[in-house]
Amino acid sequence: MKAKIIDGKAIAATIREEIRQDVARMREAHGRVPGLATVLVGARKDSETYVRMKKKACAEAGIESFGHELPGDISQEDLLAVVKGLNADPAVHGILVQLPLPDHIDDEAILAAISLEKDVDGFHPLNIGRLSMKRRDPLFVPCTPKGCIELLDRSGIEISGRNAVVLGRSNIVGLPVAMLLLHRNATLTVCHSRTADLPAMVRQADILVAAVGRPEMVRGDWIKPGAAVIDVGVNAVDDADDPRGYRLVGDVAFDEAREVAGAITPVPGGVGPMTIAMLLRNTTDAAARALDRG
Ligand code: NDP
Repeated sequence: MKAKIIDGKAIAATIREEIRQDVARMREAHGRVPGLATVLVGARKDSETYVRMKKKACAEAGIESFGHELPGDISQEDLLAVVKGLNADPAVHGILVQLPLPDHIDDEAILAAISLEKDVDGFHPLNIGRLSMKRRDPLFVPCTPKGCIELLDRSGIEISGRNAVVLGRSNIVGLPVAMLLLHRNATLTVCHSRTADLPAMVRQADILVAAVGRPEMVRGDWIKPGAAVIDVGVNAVDDADDPRGYRLVGDVAFDEAREVAGAITPVPGGVGPMTIAMLLRNTTDAAARALDRG
């Protein structure tokens, strides 16, 4: 039996509509809307595209966005001054510094300078620290990992008591998603580039989250029958039949895996759309908290 396709695009659209309604209620009750500041340093095409998509999504939800496009040779000091200015701006509830930053910038220092209450990307060391501890809720959870859990929840997939295997241990995806699964009482295995016998590890997974950045590395015969597969990977592979000359694939060989899995996310159209939806959610939550503080 073929796996159920977890339609991230449709789930993200539902969430974005929920957020639009929350924002409309906030405007009505308080005369305020959430505000997201985006900080883009330099002229990387991919980063420009991501920031444009985030601003468009904000506009559709009724969230105000404030774009800061800064030159690629900006000094660390000047960038810190921009972040501090946004920390102090009451119209800004969330600050998103688009990564990666140029090599001469210490990104850890920039992320740590973002006010904890406005850290809608969830990368502030204190938010990550809280995420790693029991019963210490972070103010914000990083968007892609949060999106993975939301996909499982909204697809009715039980997490508690099940074997979850995470492939990858990056600060942005692997590590936080592993923490979230653990807090939800999964029995957790985290695999990485030094893991011996990856296929055997993956075969234990009732829930598999793949975030390695290796095109179609996970084969169908690695998948436990009936497993839920969340494929975070986004990899461009050459494709002469595609007008762009390439197509996007995940870390999982989709056509093989869908024959075995119980549920699976496609790439594109799985995790990707959730990342932006979760950013809007975090920004709206930040605004609600700011209103509560008065
Ligand atoms: P990183 O390169 O930071 O991390 C990759 C991880 O995979 C590392 O932990 C690495 O292990 C592990 N790894 C690499 N090769 C292997 C291998 N052969 N076997 C086992 N483990 C391996 O990537 P990110 O976490 O930033 O991103 C992962 C993927 O997710 C990428 O394709 C990226 O494009 C995508 N992504 C998608 C997003 C979305 O919104 N859909 C958002 C963010 C990322 P080690 O630690 O030992 O080096």
